Amino acid sequence: MSITRRNFLFSAAAAPALAAAPAPVLASQTSEKPFQGTYRFTVGDATVIALLDGYLDAAPAIIPGFDEASVSVALERAQQKLYPAGVRIPVNAFLVEIGGRRVLIDAGTSSFLGDTMGDLSKALNAHNISPASIDMVALTHIHPDHSGGLIDANGQAVFVNAQLAVGQTEYGFWHDDAIMASVPESSRGFFQIARNTVAPYADRMILHNGEQDILPGLTSLPLPGHTPGHAGYLLQTGNDQLLFWGDLVHMTALQFDNPSLTIAFDTDATQTVDTRLSMFDRASADNLLVTGAHLDFPGLGKVRKSANGYAYQPAPWQYGT
Ligand SMILES: [Zn+2]
Repeated sequence: MSITRRNFLFSAAAAPALAAAPAPVLASQTSEKPFQGTYRFTVGDATVIALLDGYLDAAPAIIPGFDEASVSVALERAQQKLYPAGVRIPVNAFLVEIGGRRVLIDAGTSSFLGDTMGDLSKALNAHNISPASIDMVALTHIHPDHSGGLIDANGQAVFVNAQLAVGQTEYGFWHDDAIMASVPESSRGFFQIARNTVAPYADRMILHNGEQDILPGLTSLPLPGHTPGHAGYLLQTGNDQLLFWGDLVHMTALQFDNPSLTIAFDTDATQTVDTRLSMFDRASADNLLVTGAHLDFPGLGKVRKSANGYAYQPAPWQYGT
């Protein structure tokens, strides 16, 4: 970058003040780095905080039809790159405050999937939100990157005062012994984790069915495919709306351009693509603000129709909230 006259003048004017100022303390010099993976914004009367639990690398082996050349081009276009372990994606959860209630949408990973995840408690802490102050946890589905944070190392409930909302179909799927017995041995662990993470909440479950108000202003929305009872949540306050669409998209840089790209963890690949296409269609037609568990953090934006499919348009930073 060349130094313009204006930049030079600004720098020269600022220099004396900088010289007199005490040296800034860099975060790396302190014992604990401040946690920065949160973004607070408002939607109508509701406050929402995007909470970054961490990231994971989706290995080429779990992306059917993975073509390294075209994936690399698409990632580069999105100012990303292909990591040795795969496509890097965030794990997001969200805290919603509406009508005096605190709702957590998904609960992070805790220690279930490695040490690049599990920061949800730090994210809540950064806003002085204690787990005991949360009134409800609403799960989009019962995979470990969404339900892992429900329990502590002893298998006890982390959110001691919270109700737990999840789709009835979703709950039934993971608790069906016949289905569990029918899947390959390597997949049975997911069933056990699903059961263990929700078990301490058994006496305070809300099993929603279809589109159902789980509290005033928050409605469940079935988005089946990734898992049988996968669901989003639509926040509505006045004329403002935000859809939390869970795992409708795993790879922001790839799946708007190519909605038919799936991952091995999609229980029903055909239904996953059908649901994604109809949701993209609705979101673009309705100019709907959306967010998701794996959209590039903080994961807030809109879906637009493009020449060859769809495109993701990130929302601008919301100041002063
Ligand atoms: Zn997920």
